[in-house]
Amino acid sequence: MTNRVLIITADSMVAKDLEDALGSVGDGQFSVQRVSHLSEAIERLRTGGIDAIMANLSLPDSQGIETFDKLFAVAPHIPIIILCVADDEMLTTEGVQRGAQGYLSKDHFGSYLVPQTLRNCIHSKALEEKFFIEKNRSDITLNSISDAVISTDMSGNVDYLNTTAENMTGWAREDAYGHQITEVMRLINSVTREVLRNPIQFVLLYNKPMVLAAGTILVRRDGREAAIEDSAAPIHDWDGKITGAVIVFHDVTAAQAMSLKMAYLAQHDFLTGLPNRLLLNDRITQAIALGKRRNNHFAVLFLDLDNFKYINDSLGHETGDALLQSVAQSLLSCVRSSDTVSRQGGDEFVILLMGDKYGEKAALAAEKILAAMTAPHTIADQQLHVTSSIGISVYPEDGEDVETLIKNADTAMYHAKEIGRNNYQYFKNEMNVQAVERQVIEVELRRALEHHEFVVYYQPRVNLATGMITGAEALVRWIHPDRGLELPGRFVEIAEDCGLILPIGQWMLQQVCSQIECWQKAGLRLIPVSVNISALEFRQKAFVEEVRIIVNEAGISPNLLQLEITESVLMDDAKGSIAILLDLKKMGILLAVDDFGTGYSSLSYLHQFPIDVLKIDQSFLNDITVTNDNGIIVSAVIAMGKSLKLLVVAEGVENQEQLAFLRAQHCEEGQGFLFSKPVAAEQMAKMLVTGLSITSAIS
Ligand code: C2E
Ligand code: MG
Ligand code: MG
Repeated sequence: MTNRVLIITADSMVAKDLEDALGSVGDGQFSVQRVSHLSEAIERLRTGGIDAIMANLSLPDSQGIETFDKLFAVAPHIPIIILCVADDEMLTTEGVQRGAQGYLSKDHFGSYLVPQTLRNCIHSKALEEKFFIEKNRSDITLNSISDAVISTDMSGNVDYLNTTAENMTGWAREDAYGHQITEVMRLINSVTREVLRNPIQFVLLYNKPMVLAAGTILVRRDGREAAIEDSAAPIHDWDGKITGAVIVFHDVTAAQAMSLKMAYLAQHDFLTGLPNRLLLNDRITQAIALGKRRNNHFAVLFLDLDNFKYINDSLGHETGDALLQSVAQSLLSCVRSSDTVSRQGGDEFVILLMGDKYGEKAALAAEKILAAMTAPHTIADQQLHVTSSIGISVYPEDGEDVETLIKNADTAMYHAKEIGRNNYQYFKNEMNVQAVERQVIEVELRRALEHHEFVVYYQPRVNLATGMITGAEALVRWIHPDRGLELPGRFVEIAEDCGLILPIGQWMLQQVCSQIECWQKAGLRLIPVSVNISALEFRQKAFVEEVRIIVNEAGISPNLLQLEITESVLMDDAKGSIAILLDLKKMGILLAVDDFGTGYSSLSYLHQFPIDVLKIDQSFLNDITVTNDNGIIVSAVIAMGKSLKLLVVAEGVENQEQLAFLRAQHCEEGQGFLFSKPVAAEQMAKMLVTGLSITSAIS
């Protein structure tokens, strides 16, 4: 590459010497142009294309340092070499100080030193330029990153801050330079508020990188504070000797707030703001640790709202949610701040009651909660009433780990529900045995249908005056592969709870209808057969339609089928019941109220139910003999049935005494072991042919 040199001198001898010296190098390394006046030089420089300048500062149109200044102003990036003639050495030195790349003294104008000096000067100017670009780049980088950067010299005096560091410390660059790092960057511990040593001090001392302790707070010049995270490192020179240190840090206040928020969300229920399962588990774990150490008791209360599903379904989820929020508030008002009220999900809450010496306070708290719950909750101008059931387990008696304590409180809650809701129950060990048994039965029930383990038994209904069989009740039996014959008392309720009663009930209806058809074909005397219908089946939307299909498929007359629905199921939603009963009645199905006398019938409704039969619950018949109250209630019920023009059937007739009583009261029909136990279909068919053996005793 050719270096284009501009020689500025009025002395043609000098010019010639220089040109010769450069020309002698050969290879066209240098191309030379010469001017004798400053004005010419400036003009030439403005057109560009010059790589180096050799200038005599004494020119016809300019003298002294001024010549240099003018040249430098026009070509600040081109190396300038001052041609030094004997009497201007001072001037040369000044020029170098002001930016000249070098000088050449008169003695060497014709020598090999001319090209060498030129080359050196061009090279060092190039390096200078490169250095400038690098510095510029690092300045821009440092000032545009979001991390703060501060560096110091060996004595810890600040010699650099980037823009972020200025903003974070509140120190302007000019103010900070020369101040101790401990002054510019004041650090304290977030908890103890003690002043912390600056990591730079360690770095300067040990010549090793270093990370800042967690929980460090930077105190700004104006006193405001920010949580920071950082690291510091030594700065080394060419020889690897430490010359200072740099610290890089950033504000973690927002990140810390965010992580706190995330931790909160992960541990709390979004609807009620109560601690969730996770946090509760944590609190119980702590309570257990404390309980072990101090020999303390504490209680876990499992609470479930009694009629929440109904509210949610009928009034909508928004109302349901608002109710849960209101319930959460009531619960909080019932316990101390050291206790934990948590939401498990749905309408289930678990409360941890701390520091209960004997586990007795739990009962008081439960009573308080039950009372608070029954107070109306005002939601969107409506007054909602809820009750709740509570189960209590006590540490360590009812469990020594979180899972067992919650599970046992849950089991106890389940029992509270069973014995009538709106009450609380302490956990008892036998509850667990029952719970396990229930679970086993549920699993087995699921397979029983597929494996044809159910059969239908029939119990005849008898005219008490004539002894004639007037009907039969179909009763489900489960022939368990291991345990043999199981009565409905063991499994119907479980089947209701888990919904299995639906397929079982449907199967019963189909079996009974096809049995009726079978007897019809066999030419037997036709009697109505009744089937028990559970609450779940009865309230199913498609129930009436299902019955219609089954009856049609069997091709039997609908008035040979009777459905028994218990009094309490009918009264649960009396208005709804009337509608369903009317639909069934329209179809021609017979209807009976089962277990009459055990629920709380409203007579006005009873009057509106399109029913045919009233079955008096067997518990009343026991009264006749046991309490010897002369069966006043039975008499009253019989009289009531008659006044409603219903057929009255007494259930559970076991002995002659009861029979005599019923007949004296003109009760029309009866059902009971005195006549026949429930029997298989074949035996029932036989009875229909032969009649009952007891008949003679009756008449
Ligand atoms: P329920 O409808 O009141 O049926 C009468 C129960 O009394 C039957 O018990 C029957 O065996 C029993 N019983 C009859 N005569 C006497 C007697 O003289 N003395 C005594 N102590 N008991 C007598 P079972 O078969 O064990 O059924 C119990 C309950 O299970 C039934 O009461 C009914 O509510 C329910 N159930 C039975 N089968 C079904 C069914 O297929 N579906 C539904 N949903 N429930 C059923
Ligand atoms: Mg019945
Ligand atoms: Mg009954």
